[in-house]
Amino acid sequence: MWRCHQKQERNFFPTGRPDPACRWMEGKMLRRFTEHLSSLPRIVLDEEEESDLLLLGCGAFSPLKGFLTREDYYSVLHRCRLADGRLWPLPIVLSLQAEEVKTLPTSGPVALYKANGQVLGVLFLNRVFSRNLKEEARLVYGTEDEDHPGVASLLRKGSYLAGGEVFVLKPEKTLEYPWEPEETKRLIRERGWRTVVGFQTRNPIHRAHEYLHKTALELVDGLLLHPLVGKTKAGDIPVEIRLRCYEALINEYYPKNRVLLGVFPAAMRYAGPREALFHALVRKNYGCTHMIIGRDHAGVGAYYGTYEAQEFCARFQSELGVEILPFDHAFYCYKCAQLGTEKTCPHGRRDRLILSGTKVREVLQRGGDLPAEFTRAEVAAILKNSYTQGSLAVESSSVDCGS
Ligand SMILES: [Zn+2]
Repeated sequence: MWRCHQKQERNFFPTGRPDPACRWMEGKMLRRFTEHLSSLPRIVLDEEEESDLLLLGCGAFSPLKGFLTREDYYSVLHRCRLADGRLWPLPIVLSLQAEEVKTLPTSGPVALYKANGQVLGVLFLNRVFSRNLKEEARLVYGTEDEDHPGVASLLRKGSYLAGGEVFVLKPEKTLEYPWEPEETKRLIRERGWRTVVGFQTRNPIHRAHEYLHKTALELVDGLLLHPLVGKTKAGDIPVEIRLRCYEALINEYYPKNRVLLGVFPAAMRYAGPREALFHALVRKNYGCTHMIIGRDHAGVGAYYGTYEAQEFCARFQSELGVEILPFDHAFYCYKCAQLGTEKTCPHGRRDRLILSGTKVREVLQRGGDLPAEFTRAEVAAILKNSYTQGSLAVESSSVDCGS
């Protein structure tokens, strides 16, 4: 059996690696892992855990070095902090079913696999511990309601967790867009930006979001347009279509030297305030100095208050290390003849162009045109084609918020 304790781990890992937050398995460690792989116990990861492992590997989840141990897990649930006191709002965990626990040693290296049999990395198991799924749902999502997509996903998971540090095999096939913090920070440095605002999105970008970007760009050097490209709920607009929309928008309407399109390969949790804080913390790792947090950021349905995510982030502002830019919903006002928010437009609802997500879907499904004040023509054309060609499901939603 391959035993590797912390002291040995340090020996395996080559010194002078570029980003100390990275957990890629390299050099001697990779060779030893490959030699011993067939004798190691194994855990198969689900899609969300696979995303988390990739993000641990590339250092996006720094200061995490692996899946949460028991001490960190309870500390995160109850205090939004790791056991050592550093901010961390979401449990990044590796679930096990009771029958899987029986196949594992109490500690030591465990090989991590994808469902299709592909090996992904190694976990240095600290210990297996049990959890209360409903308690976790209440503390993280604020509800046990199974209609909440994050809660529904959580309640399907195992009641045991495997905590410990990980090392990850770097995927051979990389994404088309910058997705690692190190590469993203290099691109930011090359552009000479000292201040960078991050924008998280899982939706197409409409004029209202563009207004927020451009308002922020009046204050900072660059914009990191950072769509989440991991698992989202059924009905969200597929990544390929969204990326085409972002490209079209940037090409026509943004100064090229002030915007960077990267991707964030995380799964969406819809955990509202806690996920907003998580989105901000992680974007700091990608080089952001500022972060746009909109109304009901990372929310779903009516589970969170309109300003809850912004207020929650504000509580931790002094130790976040990234400045939160809280924005209101934007809209086009016919009287102002421009975009604005409640903060800048004195007119009433009937002077404003406000389309619900349902209304937008109706227009697109019948092959109609979205008003130019609502969506740039290039973006509207991509969405309309996707609907009329059937690439978007009828229930496709989420055109109404930027998170
Ligand atoms: Zn107005």
